[in-house]
Amino acid sequence: MLKRKMIKNFGWPLKTAMRETEVTRLYPEVMMELPENERGIHELDATTCIGCASCARVCPNSCIEMVHFKFGNPLKNKKMQFPQIDFGRCMFCGLCVDECPVECLKMGKKVVMAGWERKDIVKSPDFLATKRFTAKEVADLEAEAKRVAAEKAVAAAAKKASAAKEAPAKEGAAKKPAKEGAAANGPAKKAAAEAKPKEGGAA
Ligand code: SF4
Ligand code: SF4
Repeated sequence: MLKRKMIKNFGWPLKTAMRETEVTRLYPEVMMELPENERGIHELDATTCIGCASCARVCPNSCIEMVHFKFGNPLKNKKMQFPQIDFGRCMFCGLCVDECPVECLKMGKKVVMAGWERKDIVKSPDFLATKRFTAKEVADLEAEAKRVAAEKAVAAAAKKASAAKEAPAKEGAAKKPAKEGAAANGPAKKAAAEAKPKEGGAA
């Protein structure tokens, strides 16, 4: 009786060991499959981010801070500011993603954010960026931005100069009819003034 019980007790572990069913995973080397709509660590396309800070303003937990990194497009993002996210406070609501006007921020599939210190879960744009410009590309874009700015300055100066030229001509044109009008009204008014006392005297 005891023998049979012992064999029975060994049977179950043996059966389980023979089965090819995954019971545990070798984390973090083997990750579980995540659902399609998983909201993980954000992904940033630094090449299209305009640094508007809309994501930071809309965040209900104030976990986004705009910080400087030199890997964006200076033509679109003049201050080269990108979102840095504190995942210690983030609740993965996705509001920042919905608010982004150029759709350069999205919820990614990375979920591992463990660290040894509190600051390890504050992820900089350098960590979040999935797309970025190289230093050479940024230098070329900066040269282009300077050229565009210089062109704009020249156009604005030319516009100002032409406006300054046209202003006296316009002023003269505006004053002339007024003077003419005054000259035309002068004798008529005088005649009317002279006629009034005469009328009063007759009565
Ligand atoms: S997902 Fe929500 S809580 Fe997290 S950074 Fe975006 S807006 Fe803030
Ligand atoms: S990620 Fe989007 S909302 Fe945030 S600063 Fe960049 S462009 Fe603006």
